[in-house]
Amino acid sequence: MRFGSHISIRDGYLGAAKHATKIGARAFQYFPKNPRSLTVKKFNLHDAQDCAKYCKEHDLLTIAHTPYPTNLVADNDQMGLVIESLLNDLEIANACGSIGVVVHFGVLKNASNPLEGYQRMIGTLNDVLSKWDGNALVLLENNAGKSGPTGTTLEELVQIRQLTDYPDKIGFCLDTCHVFASGVWDGDNWREVEEKGLELKFFEHLKAVHLNNSAYPTRSMKDRHANIPNGEIKVEQIKEFLSCTVFDDIPFVLETPHEENYSHEDEIQFLNELMN
Ligand SMILES: [Zn+2]
Repeated sequence: MRFGSHISIRDGYLGAAKHATKIGARAFQYFPKNPRSLTVKKFNLHDAQDCAKYCKEHDLLTIAHTPYPTNLVADNDQMGLVIESLLNDLEIANACGSIGVVVHFGVLKNASNPLEGYQRMIGTLNDVLSKWDGNALVLLENNAGKSGPTGTTLEELVQIRQLTDYPDKIGFCLDTCHVFASGVWDGDNWREVEEKGLELKFFEHLKAVHLNNSAYPTRSMKDRHANIPNGEIKVEQIKEFLSCTVFDDIPFVLETPHEENYSHEDEIQFLNELMN
């Protein structure tokens, strides 16, 4: 299986790809630019293209992740920034040969009407994608529910994609910590989630998984990632999830804590042994 982790671009995009192979990853995720800012980055195109070439030669699949302030239902005064930033992320991801750019499902704070949030999200996506012709997709990620239940279900991801003018430019990224924390997957009901996903044709557009354990129990609505062997999702339940046959050859990317005494390299090795 194609396990990997989030990797820093401290040494550039090519540097990140080389680091991925060094730790035994067959996929990785990176921030195309400063994760704390929406400022458009003048990126090094050669570095990005070298990354794409390297990944092709070494059979690495990659995804990018938008900066944290990217909110698809931002206030009107922020919206221009979000749109420019997301287009910039798509350009970088495209140059790096990545599958797409992960963006969290929007959350509308203090909203009396959730419909307004969905409508604004669709509007933002239409705006961005009308200006985008590259191969990199927007990958909508499910929420954990820490700011309310919006965006926690497979139905919402599927519906938003369908309701935009450009569904072919949109795929999904499923975060296992979030789907567990939200209660959609409680650890024991994967078969039901799988059936629901098949019925909705969710898996056809699932392009990546954020493979994280959860520090908090199911239905806690809390978003705290834990290492695969040490979270509230039991290792057997993770194994059941990974054994599921609905996944294509997609990246399973760790966004888990990593330290010297337990690195992503160790965690990838743990996963490979688990699935062997
Ligand atoms: Zn995630």
